Amino acid sequence: MRNTHVVVIGSGFGGLAAAKQLAKSNIETTLISANGEHLFQPLLYQVATGVVDGARIAPPIAEVLRRRRSVDVITGYVTAVDADRKVITYATDDGIEQIGYTYLIVAAGAAQAYFGHDEWAERTFALKTLDDAKALREQVLRAFEATADDVLRDFVIVGAGATGVEVAGQIAELARTHQGGAEVRINLVEGAGDVLPVYGGKLSAFTRATLEKAGVNVLTDTFVTAIDDGAVTVKDETGVERTVPAGTVVWSAGVKANPLAGLLAEATGCETDRAGRLLINRDLTVGGRADVFALGDMTNLNNLPGQSPVAMQQGRHAADIIRGVKGPGTHFRYLDKGSMAMIDTPNAVIDPPMNLPKLTGFIAWVGWLAVHLYYLAGMGNRIVVLRDWLRAFVGNARPGFAEAERTVEPDDAVRTDEAASADLGVAGLPDGPRNVPVA
Ligand SMILES: Cc1cc2nc3c(=O)[nH]c(=O)nc-3n(C[C@H](O)[C@H](O)[C@H](O)COP(=O)(O)OP(=O)(O)OC[C@H]3O[C@@H](n4cnc5c(N)ncnc54)[C@H](O)[C@@H]3O)c2cc1C
Repeated sequence: MRNTHVVVIGSGFGGLAAAKQLAKSNIETTLISANGEHLFQPLLYQVATGVVDGARIAPPIAEVLRRRRSVDVITGYVTAVDADRKVITYATDDGIEQIGYTYLIVAAGAAQAYFGHDEWAERTFALKTLDDAKALREQVLRAFEATADDVLRDFVIVGAGATGVEVAGQIAELARTHQGGAEVRINLVEGAGDVLPVYGGKLSAFTRATLEKAGVNVLTDTFVTAIDDGAVTVKDETGVERTVPAGTVVWSAGVKANPLAGLLAEATGCETDRAGRLLINRDLTVGGRADVFALGDMTNLNNLPGQSPVAMQQGRHAADIIRGVKGPGTHFRYLDKGSMAMIDTPNAVIDPPMNLPKLTGFIAWVGWLAVHLYYLAGMGNRIVVLRDWLRAFVGNARPGFAEAERTVEPDDAVRTDEAASADLGVAGLPDGPRNVPVA
């Protein structure tokens, strides 16, 4: 068994921020990641709609961290945490391995939740991993190759949070520009009373009006009650059910904690919420353990949003406690920098912090692109993505579709958690409880 000072689990926003911060003090760190990549989830919808190439948003984590010599990267799927012995068990291509830690930081993210209908996973397209985005991209291409009246051209997008809005807006734009006015039918279904319900007011109203102008049929106060081949059944607030044609269903309605949250809860005695997220302490430690931190989407601290700035700031906070920059037990304070969502070209919305004026339209669109370009890993990726945005949004090209046309063997370094765990021979990890019921 190897020993290391800090073990970080996860190479997403939280894990990467923690590893970079630890490296500032040259603390010996081992980062274990199921898929070996740093996935920039906010641009997944652009991979699915051919705007950018998948490789640009998922660089190998070892490459991202190559200059941090105190950080070692392992591709492995963590299967057990022994908090008493301070030992992690993980599966790799070479078999089961163990590693000891002085401190543990867990940032394993979230998984899709289907509100008690796990069978819907088979009938819908998700947007959580790179493989999800590529599968949806294949379907979008199939839909546009089909005849105008084919049911594949009937898109139903479930959930009008930022992801649902972005997918609906981008499919409408794809049909209008790249496909030269191809006929598509897009229904965006939302259980709450408005699109982007966490924004509300002017921003939700602008988003709805923009989507409707683009031809998206927005169904709010509406719940999905059944998903069958070629059709989705929805129920509105009056209780009336009806069937909507649906050859392509995109699920963006709910998340639950990664199964690792359940393992960690068992190992530390930490409570979880209804979505299986760890109810961590205010210094981000877990249960009664001062040496185990959890953060990001797999946790719930005062209902902070499941967004990348929360995970990144928490990653840095945990690392700062470990490297002694902050005292043990220091409470985490979230610096809210606002939220934003893309609709289509050139429309986005920004909800800034501190009662600053809310932004809509072109200014927000430029702001969205600038912020997401800034946070994308790697200067080379930024340059290529900027070039692809110009081609897609100023011109009518979809450079990302070229990747779909190439026959590429799956890259071992770019895999989903599910694929990684399957490859590594790990199955049957416990499922977390569901989020809130759809109907
Ligand atoms: C489609 C989409 C769009 C989004 N858009 C935005 C946006 O515009 N703005 C925004 O702020 N946020 C956005 N988010 C949310 C944001 O991506 C998350 O809040 C953020 O990724 C959370 O970071 P994390 O570190 O907690 O988890 P993640 O970034 O999900 O990382 C989890 C990591 O854990 C690894 N892992 C999981 N299980 C194991 C295991 N058993 N063993 C080893 N490794 C494991 C995974 O491989 C992964 O590397 C979006 C999310 C999605 C899905």
